[in-house]
Parts: sequence; C-alpha cells; structure tokens
Amino acid sequence: MPIVSMAPYCARRGCSGPAWQDDLCPACWRLARMFGKDPKMFAFVPLHGYADDRDAVELPWDRLGQEAEARDISVADVLAERPPDDGTEPRRRTL
Ligand SMILES: [Zn+2]
Repeated sequence: MPIVSMAPYCARRGCSGPAWQDDLCPACWRLARMFGKDPKMFAFVPLHGYADDRDAVELPWDRLGQEAEARDISVADVLAERPPDDGTEPRRRTL
C-alpha cells in the first residue's frame, strides 16, 4: 500500500519547508519547541506574522474532519485534546 502524504510541506503559512513532524518542517518544529509552544498550534502562527488584527490562518478542516471521523469523535474534541506528552522535554506552562 503506497504511503500517501497529506501534508508534504510545512503547515505554517509562508513556509515551504518539507513537513517533518506534527506537519511542521524541522526548523519550525524546533522553533516551536524553543519557545515552549505546542508544535501543532505553532502551525497557525504565520512565518511572516499576521497582516492585521483580523488576519487569521485557516484551520485544516478536511484533515480535522477525517481524524474526527476515523476516531468517531467530534472535530471540537480533536481540537480540544492535548497532544500526548512524549516525555522528551518538560512541558512549560504559560500563564
Ligand atoms: Zn516550516
């Protein structure tokens, strides 16, 4: 069975690096870790920043919908859950 990649490129807007982990390229993924951000959420921080207060990055609804359907949960549940802690680094809390 051929492996079909849904996200060959970095999920971060403005970045054309190859997707590596959590849909981010290695550079963006390390940057997210460096700032203590969840890599999956960092994908929604545009490389060149937001254009204005109303600018927003579109969520990958197709992928979220497929994931929710595959696990028989709602899209809201997919968005709400935290990624499993892989234990490689202590998770920092931002208050
Ligand atoms: Zn990137």
